Amino acid sequence: MADEVNRLVILGSGPAGLTAALYSSRANLSPLLIEGAEPGGQLTITTEVENYPGFEKGIQGPEMMDVFRRQATRFGTRFLFGAATAVDLRKYPFELTVEKETVRAEALIISTGASAKLLGIESEKRLMGYGVSACATCDGAFFKDKETVVVGGGDTAMEEATFLTRFSTKVTIVHRRNQLRASRIMQDRAFANSRISFVWDSVVDEIYGDRQSGVKGVRFKNVTNDKTTDFRTDGVFMAIGHQPNTAIFQGQLEMDELGYLKVKPGSTYTNVAGVFAAGDVADKVYRQAVTAAGTGCMAALDAERWLEARHG
Ligand code: NAP
Repeated sequence: MADEVNRLVILGSGPAGLTAALYSSRANLSPLLIEGAEPGGQLTITTEVENYPGFEKGIQGPEMMDVFRRQATRFGTRFLFGAATAVDLRKYPFELTVEKETVRAEALIISTGASAKLLGIESEKRLMGYGVSACATCDGAFFKDKETVVVGGGDTAMEEATFLTRFSTKVTIVHRRNQLRASRIMQDRAFANSRISFVWDSVVDEIYGDRQSGVKGVRFKNVTNDKTTDFRTDGVFMAIGHQPNTAIFQGQLEMDELGYLKVKPGSTYTNVAGVFAAGDVADKVYRQAVTAAGTGCMAALDAERWLEARHG
């Protein structure tokens, strides 16, 4: 594969990457799409998507990404399973390392998205997958007739908590302030749900349990007075936001202070000619599937025009 030079390589298989693949494959660029560590992206860990235009009755996130994928496949997108672990943008053609293989590209679209943030405490790491989760869709069903805690005050936390009430008898949202960040409609849904209650001004600073018997409880710390309280629960869901997947581009591409890739306003051009960014990896403001898809389309058009001008 090292000798082959791909006209266009796309990194990431969420709405941005797959839309870029759809447009560029229809333009006969025969893109190679590297699927990344979480094929399908964040929507594969979402439940109902009600706000993507065209799906009048809503659609499950994973199913929607299947549709995107099939549509991109139809026009000749090639897929490579695995994640890029290194990239050299100083060389041209650009070089990427994917599962120890070298992949070369004349143009590159980065749509590696963002990943769920975690608290960073030892017990969270130890119990991840054993009662601690960052994905209610994936793990909610394990908590049938049990009690759960959701950490966070944004839309994700409200969505996760509301979803969890399908299974859990009681869901407690713990938020570090006394005001939610979530949108009004999501707040109202959570407040109206009799299975959801709130613990304000507090963080989880310890999770009790072990890998054999799972989570047994958490310790809340009130951030206004440092008082700690033990709380019984069977599961903990982290919903405290996301961070952009840009570690491999450090030192090679311009980023903002949070690590989001910088693009030239109104375009998907990064500071390296021939490298384009689309989706959540370059967007900390909107972060919607539809905006990701929109910038994926822009990146494909930008790349196509750039390749045409450079290589004809
Ligand atoms: P977010 O809006 O950044 O909210 C993260 C929440 O976690 C905030 O309430 C934050 O507290 C809290 N938090 C962050 N770090 C923490 C820490 N270390 N310990 C404790 N709490 C912490 O993230 P999000 O909820 O994932 O939403 C991201 C974007 O996606 C938003 O634009 C949202 O509207 C959108 N979204 C939309 C939908 C929908 O419409 N269906 C669903 C999900 C997400 P503070 O409030 O104090 O900062």
